[in-house]
Amino acid sequence: MRIALPLAFAACLAACDDAAPPPSAGHDTDLPPEVLADAEQKADQVDCRQYDDGQVDGASLLALVNKQDALRGSYAPADLLPLGAELRMPDRPVVLLRAGARAAFEALTSAALVEAGVDLRARSAYRSFREQCLTFDFKVRENGLEHADRYSARPGRSQHQLGTTVDITAEIWDWELEPEMAETAEAGWLATNAGRFGFALSYPAGQEDLTGYAFEPWHFRYIGVEAAAELAASDLILEEYLRACAAGDAGFACPEEPQPAVPVNQEFIGGACATDADCASLGPDALCLVEDHPGGYCTVPCTRGCPDRAGNNQVTFCHGEREGEAWCRSKCDFSRFPEAGCREGYTCLDGERPDGSARADVCRPEGQLPDAVTEG
Ligand SMILES: [Zn+2]
Repeated sequence: MRIALPLAFAACLAACDDAAPPPSAGHDTDLPPEVLADAEQKADQVDCRQYDDGQVDGASLLALVNKQDALRGSYAPADLLPLGAELRMPDRPVVLLRAGARAAFEALTSAALVEAGVDLRARSAYRSFREQCLTFDFKVRENGLEHADRYSARPGRSQHQLGTTVDITAEIWDWELEPEMAETAEAGWLATNAGRFGFALSYPAGQEDLTGYAFEPWHFRYIGVEAAAELAASDLILEEYLRACAAGDAGFACPEEPQPAVPVNQEFIGGACATDADCASLGPDALCLVEDHPGGYCTVPCTRGCPDRAGNNQVTFCHGEREGEAWCRSKCDFSRFPEAGCREGYTCLDGERPDGSARADVCRPEGQLPDAVTEG
């Protein structure tokens, strides 16, 4: 890790009585599930498209994402998988990482238990563009735009949308994310050893001018073992390394590790199912709606937030129905839901059934269209 002084501070040594505080240094944090669920209730009033101005494709493990370089709003990883209960903190029933990052996180936490005696868990990992939008909007409504910009990433500008970033905590830190945790031996082990498993610390101490974020000793991004080794051998922080890679700097190999192939998993919100067991990867409270849903419809109650799931609709959100009971839905009918839509390679079934009853309104992989509905 680099020891050199950040630019502004270095300049400060020369002449510096009126130094300004670092610009918008904040934390990139999530909302607790119950607060997010509440935000979902107001989601109709939020225009997330106003933030969708990014160009970055997040598929690369080395994609440059910061407060200036934003991901496309439509970007969602195609290989998200849920973390098992032994990998996530209590009260976080659904935590998703890309397949390669999940395997690496498993290896990291196993080693931490053996070598440092600490049971590391994920507090927050993948956050969809929409979830980040609701989070940001919530903070704007609570504290105003300036405060939200200072303490939260705008939609598209969070590394959590990549599905390779994880906020790591443990019971010894009361499951919190606080800079003070860095003073513990366990966090020291994490900082020293994360690179062995392909993880890098995104926001080191004293680098606000470069990263835009205050020190986050909990926020790690998976870049692959080889890239992490190249980063460790340099005197750069992750942000500088990713900028060098994005610029095609010949001094760096920027190795891109192939990611494990993951078959299209149908256990997503709106995914096909026959019984509740088919939806188990969404969490213990997941269930399969069969009535009015040809081919089944995996979902979860909105009370703990609605997770996006790759391979299906563009967004997932809360939609009340059935005598006030609200389930997470993934709709694709733009005419009714402004943020709806399907990902590439999927088709929106928004037609009516042959008998003229309920609309299907769900994305299915092209070529896998159930017979019971006509394509709209
Ligand atoms: Zn984070």
